[in-house]
Amino acid sequence: MGGLKVLMLAAEAAPLVKVGGLGDVVGALPVALRRMGMDVRVMLPDNGLRVADEYKVRRLDAGVLAWGGRSERVTVRCLKVNGCLHYLVGGRPIAHDGKVYGADMVGDAPKFVFFALAAMRVAERLLFQPDVLHVHDAHPGAALYWLGTVGRHHRFWQGTAGVLTIHNLAYQFNGAADALKDGGLEPGVDVRIPAYARSGLLALGIANADYVNTVSPTYAREIRMAVQGAGLQKLLRAQRTRVSGILNGLDGSVWNPARDAVIAAEFDVRRLARRKLNSSALRTELRLPAAAGPLFALVARLDWQKGLDLVVGVAPQLHALGAQLVVLGSGSRDIGKQLQALARAHPGSVAVRLGFDEALARRIYAGADVVLVPSRYEPCGLTQLIGMRYGAIPLVRCTGGLADTVLDVASNARGTGFVFGKYTVPALARAVRRACKLFGTPLAWRAVQVRAMQADFSWKPAAKQYAELYANAVRARRRGNAA
Ligand code: ADP
Repeated sequence: MGGLKVLMLAAEAAPLVKVGGLGDVVGALPVALRRMGMDVRVMLPDNGLRVADEYKVRRLDAGVLAWGGRSERVTVRCLKVNGCLHYLVGGRPIAHDGKVYGADMVGDAPKFVFFALAAMRVAERLLFQPDVLHVHDAHPGAALYWLGTVGRHHRFWQGTAGVLTIHNLAYQFNGAADALKDGGLEPGVDVRIPAYARSGLLALGIANADYVNTVSPTYAREIRMAVQGAGLQKLLRAQRTRVSGILNGLDGSVWNPARDAVIAAEFDVRRLARRKLNSSALRTELRLPAAAGPLFALVARLDWQKGLDLVVGVAPQLHALGAQLVVLGSGSRDIGKQLQALARAHPGSVAVRLGFDEALARRIYAGADVVLVPSRYEPCGLTQLIGMRYGAIPLVRCTGGLADTVLDVASNARGTGFVFGKYTVPALARAVRRACKLFGTPLAWRAVQVRAMQADFSWKPAAKQYAELYANAVRARRRGNAA
């Protein structure tokens, strides 16, 4: 697969743009693929985001795009990140407000459709003819729709295979008909797509991709069923052989407690005793008193998905067990208010910080004893992986990628954490009690910590699977073109 040319489109790519795990993944995957000899380029919407001075930015002329009966100028800022070319693609429909996502998906549709179609023009302008167009999530889904319809008649794009990675099926970006029309695309008429999603960017992406994957094997199975299929299960089942699950990796150079400038004391498995310094520094920072019980932590987007209602429900029991809790999150105001009320009700045992704070997140991973991930559903989840790497033992619900990455200490001698099944407060409380009990036996706790820190979640195996996926997609495209 060396020499393969891959164009990735996404709304986020760390370190330039990150709201959640999508940013981590699109930041790391291109680097891992480049190591395999591929030429990977990444395009992101240019919302005017500030680019750090360390990057050399070039502006390119990318001409115009027909949009809503007018010609709109396409702007491009080009820079290299970790050796990989990134292009920030802009134009009038993408507001320069620095916001990655707006208040609602319909409102965001023009920006993402414009971005997706403008990205195609930019690639043509650069004479970068990709073997694979790799779209991440719904946001740039219009590019796959364009490729599968209009693009198939363009010589430049005829040989390009389309791949879609679903990072979260819940964000479908339905109701994009007007934006698609502005870009010269009619809403889909594909009868496999439920009527409500025929002008949805995710559904159109799925229907027009040569191959689709999601970010863990369990989530790939779950989304083919009604409970988690979010209405698209039939469409996904219809393409069963072309829907797979590839577990995300974790970039060990980005997430490394032995080299992390923002934590109080760097440490690794051999210097695990130093971890205590991070725990006490974190408690001081959060104004939590020293305590004999464990410190539980949750770092997440404040969203219905993340199981924060369970956390609110279990807090009194945590308090009764002598444990403490810190939550760092940004997102829903309503959830934020509930969490603040919880902190007020349990001073000294619950600390809540609202906002996006990468440095604090790192100090939490380095100092907390348990990372909580009680999600309703979780396509892959990265916080349990980061927690493990930093010696914070994960306590997760058995769903999606959480089920694929955490082994319960009760059922496996090589266990790395605690897993609970039912989405209920009592089920979570039982797991919390088990964690507190194990924490009371330091040697046993340490053994789990060491196993968790040594678990291998590097990007290498995932990159290999993506290379296979690309090869399959390219073959499928060739067959499709020959038919
Ligand atoms: P999702 O992709 O659903 O948001 P993941 O667990 O896959 O969830 O990834 C979340 C990523 O975002 C992790 O790197 C986590 O540390 C980070 N993160 C989430 N919320 C915050 C926050 N408020 N401040 C800093 N980092 C955060």
